[in-house]
Amino acid sequence: MTKVQRDPHWSDWKWQVRHAVRTPADLAAQLTLTPDEAEGVRRTTAGGLPLTVTPYFMELVEREGPDGPLRRQVVPSAAEWTASPGERDDPLGEEALLAAPSLVHRYPDRALLWATDRCASYCRFCTRKRLVGQGPTPTESDVADGIDYIARTPSIRDVIISGGDALLLDDDKLVSLVARLRGIRHVDVIRLATRMVAFCPMRITLDLLHQLRAFQPVYFLLHFNHPAELTPEVTAALARLADHGFPLLNQSVLLRGINDRVDVLEALFRTLARLRCRPYYLHQCDAITGAAHFRTTLDSGLDLVDALRGRVSGLALPTYVVDVPGGRGKVPLARDPRVSREGGLVRLRGSLGGTADYPEPSDS
Ligand SMILES: *Cc1c(COP(=O)(O)O)cnc(C)c1O
Ligand code: SF4
Repeated sequence: MTKVQRDPHWSDWKWQVRHAVRTPADLAAQLTLTPDEAEGVRRTTAGGLPLTVTPYFMELVEREGPDGPLRRQVVPSAAEWTASPGERDDPLGEEALLAAPSLVHRYPDRALLWATDRCASYCRFCTRKRLVGQGPTPTESDVADGIDYIARTPSIRDVIISGGDALLLDDDKLVSLVARLRGIRHVDVIRLATRMVAFCPMRITLDLLHQLRAFQPVYFLLHFNHPAELTPEVTAALARLADHGFPLLNQSVLLRGINDRVDVLEALFRTLARLRCRPYYLHQCDAITGAAHFRTTLDSGLDLVDALRGRVSGLALPTYVVDVPGGRGKVPLARDPRVSREGGLVRLRGSLGGTADYPEPSDS
């Protein structure tokens, strides 16, 4: 079932990055594109979020049909160029919150830094579609400005290195970035947000882990959206990470027709929990321009989360969140289990069905 011939450098992450599919011709050589995909792919040559897929991920995509859940995440479709009402290029209002050229400071205690605009493959629903893969690539001095800002802002306790994907940096650059952040006294937690483990699990080398281990706590904030992404290679990469003591969290994006089914999410979250990666957030897909074909309604998201509650353990159940447009912050979404209140009794709907009264203490 695997390809007869793989390049001898297949397990070298730099080879994977260098040999990614980047042109319509490369893609058409590997997949029979639908007319809609062909149109979408053609449009990427005019600018915007580029087409890029690593050979590793491409091999998974090739096993799927046109509606395949991995294929739809990385193969452009014509719908991306159609804006729907209310969609924006920068739905989270990040441009207004830039404290340095590549640093978003939205919450008092947290900051989000990007050191590159590149990713190993591009997700067609990316929230930072306006800048990812298109430059300008942050310069050393842009990144240094961001680190300086963090150093002189003692309220920042948690720094998220985010996408573009910092794991595309060479070991030296990545380790130096993490080391400089660790050198700031008030920074408690460093989070490395990456989709590289899904697109190129061979990036998680023992050499990198040995170097990063010196700067714990470094949380890996991973991004998996579908159980088919959790291949044997990914399983091994997650084991290497966990064995080296890195706490692992996952963020998924809820995507219409890709993972918006209870059985799919259940398999994804259960498997992640078994691989020592805690499902952290399930993100409502942001209202980014041209993402309507990926987005679900909030009610259908709530139905999914309701169905999962009581079915999977709390450990495997992420918080369903929506990022309120305009940079107003993430909020959790959940249906209120309180049915009614009478006297001191609050009627609650249980996750296993049925209702019962919780007696509240009086306020006085
Ligand atoms: C999501 C986000 C964070 C981190 O939020 P948590 O809820 O702590 O995971 C920080 N900064 C920005 C700009 C974000 O979008
Ligand atoms: S890996 Fe992250 S930053 Fe890169 S395209 Fe995908 S969602 Fe966007």
